[in-house]
Amino acid sequence: MNCSVCGKDAVIDIPYMNKRLCQVHFLDHFESVFMKEVRQQIKFDSGGGTVSVALSGGKDSSVTLYILHSILSVRRKVKVKAFTVDEGISGYRDKSIQTAGELCRSLGVEHTVISYSEVFGTTMDSEVTRLRGKTPCAVCGPMRRQLINMAAQTQGSDYVALGLNMDDVAQSVLMNVSRGDMERISRMAPHSHSVNGLVRRVIPLRRLSEREVVTYALLKNIKYDHSWCPYYAQAQRNLFRKIVSEIEEKYPGSKLAMIRLQEDIAGRYTNPGDLSLGTCRNCGRPSSGQLCSVCMISGENDDGNQ
Ligand SMILES: [Zn+2]
Ligand SMILES: [Zn+2]
Repeated sequence: MNCSVCGKDAVIDIPYMNKRLCQVHFLDHFESVFMKEVRQQIKFDSGGGTVSVALSGGKDSSVTLYILHSILSVRRKVKVKAFTVDEGISGYRDKSIQTAGELCRSLGVEHTVISYSEVFGTTMDSEVTRLRGKTPCAVCGPMRRQLINMAAQTQGSDYVALGLNMDDVAQSVLMNVSRGDMERISRMAPHSHSVNGLVRRVIPLRRLSEREVVTYALLKNIKYDHSWCPYYAQAQRNLFRKIVSEIEEKYPGSKLAMIRLQEDIAGRYTNPGDLSLGTCRNCGRPSSGQLCSVCMISGENDDGNQ
């Protein structure tokens, strides 16, 4: 297998580009797609500001932090920070918090940990013992999103970067399509303006596939935690993961098309008023309904949000 650009040995085959790339040309491609997304998604008002990376310690967020740090930290007025949400899942999260901390230390990046137990007084290990028909992800997702926002606010950040890749985003689009939830599709990251109390979420990996992210981490020798959440087996997302990869295999470029579709739908809701949020009447945190999704008991779906 030879590189489509220079003819040397290829390290990866990328069907949606109809290209095979050697190490040099793959790294080139990966970083230029990432940088283009950063330029499109992150716009500091006065040329400076802070970006927090929601760092789980897994491959996607570790690669996101690694590249953001290398391209933004050289700018004098820009700060890159990181935090990890501790859901309280023993044997899983404790390990990845350590991996996340090590990456931050090696890059010289400020790192904090925020936990379900300190904010909500509970852990996922105890939540899964009383799910009442819900999946663990349906319970966990809203709590994690609130803490991601809280941690980014505490770090004084203008943006929070999530490590969602092309596969993750395509799955979310399809999940929301299957529920007919166009409003939720329009509210997916990246966000160009911040709405009352919510830090803008950006996703610079959205046009890079999971396989490309793994290959990049390997070639750059970025240490990440390989384990999966023990509760993931029950996730509705699993089905969508399978369907999206089957579609992509048969019709390369479908995942990118789903991302374009999301972008197009979000672009049609240009009036910020369309996106405005109120506050939850129970806990006072930002919410699109009277109750935020953490306080609302009724949600029975896995969440197609990001
Ligand atoms: Zn090449
Ligand atoms: Zn609430």
